[in-house]
Amino acid sequence: MTGQFFISLLNPAIGLLFAVTFFLMWLNRREAYIAYAASAYVATALAFLIQDMAPVLPMELQRLPANLCFLLTGALFAAAIIKRYGLPVPWREMMVAMSVSLAVFLWFLLGQPSIAARIYAISVGAGAIALMVVRALWPIEKPHLIDRVLFWVAVLAAINLTVRPIAILTLGGGFDNYDGFQQSVYWTTVQFSQAMVSVAAAISLMVAIAIDMVAELRLQAAGDTLSGLLNRRGFEAEAGAALRRCAAEEAPAALLIADFDHFKAINDTYGHAVGDAIITAFGTHVRAVGPAEMIAGRIGGEEFAILVPGASIEAGRQLAETIRSGLLAACADRIPAALRPSTCIGISVGTPGATLSQLMQQADQALYDAKRTGRDCVRTFTPTVIRIASA
Ligand code: GH3
Ligand code: MG
Ligand code: MG
Repeated sequence: MTGQFFISLLNPAIGLLFAVTFFLMWLNRREAYIAYAASAYVATALAFLIQDMAPVLPMELQRLPANLCFLLTGALFAAAIIKRYGLPVPWREMMVAMSVSLAVFLWFLLGQPSIAARIYAISVGAGAIALMVVRALWPIEKPHLIDRVLFWVAVLAAINLTVRPIAILTLGGGFDNYDGFQQSVYWTTVQFSQAMVSVAAAISLMVAIAIDMVAELRLQAAGDTLSGLLNRRGFEAEAGAALRRCAAEEAPAALLIADFDHFKAINDTYGHAVGDAIITAFGTHVRAVGPAEMIAGRIGGEEFAILVPGASIEAGRQLAETIRSGLLAACADRIPAALRPSTCIGISVGTPGATLSQLMQQADQALYDAKRTGRDCVRTFTPTVIRIASA
């Protein structure tokens, strides 16, 4: 038994270990991208096992399943990364890259045998698949360090697959037969660098999965499932932090508080489910019309708070009007036609340094005004001017 034998076991062993790990993760979180990652590692283990250990098909043809598995590894791993971002997986383009690559491979296996040309054929095919990941991730936002790591893993894989064979085959020369190939510097570097890429890719993807899980838990703790907005706790935490940033930058902030009109009567007449549908539609509507920097939460049963950092009183009023006037259209396809839900909105605009509770109190007062003076309207808080009578 030689050292080479143990190096040969390295990739199948790593592949199977990660396949099992991703499979166990998938049992917990039934997400397609984790299943793709598990399958990619099964494919890589099989590829190296077939290549180095057991002949599957007679003669030269046994190279075919091994190289098919190499390409499948690339395609499945690419699918795992692309799917993690909810982007469409380019299955058709990957199939074309694999088919062309295998056709060229077969030509240099049966038509005009050349080991070096076959290596190029498979490596360039897998490199093209890695480039599809680079293309998919290039335009999207990469909020976490791990997003940039995944992107660079794809870039490195593409470079590794296209440049490595050219460099090493040029330096080390071609092969006359498979005995030479199996013992070659080229094959040893493939085994070594593939093991490194396998481990790096698996660790990156596992960190990404862990980050997704933490983000989901955070959202569950701070979010409101019915409206899709923050819950009171989440709103207070985020709005408080945003107001502190506004104070530091000496920027204003507008706070809106909305409360549905006669909501108890709506529930009593049409049922609680219809009331819930209005709450859901309101959340979707607010997210659609509000600016990106807005922080919006459902702070009570049918009460909502919206903080817009940097907004002037006019910007706050405009947003409130857009929300109020668009509510009916936003609910229209979810509620009985006779029902015309409306909302009152109170606004306060904080000068830099105003606290969240001060703003909430003032917006509440404005809301109370709106309820008093007829519903379905927007009111702005105006400080009461106390006149001191001159003696
Ligand atoms: P007003 O115009 O003065 O605001 O009248 P209102 O009936 O809306 O009064 P209020 O704001 O006090 O309404 C509270 C009602 O909101 C009571 C309850 O029936 C309803 N409500 C609170 N939470 C929910 C919820 O999660 N789902 C539904 N469907 N209704 C809710
Ligand atoms: Mg209320
Ligand atoms: Mg109400």
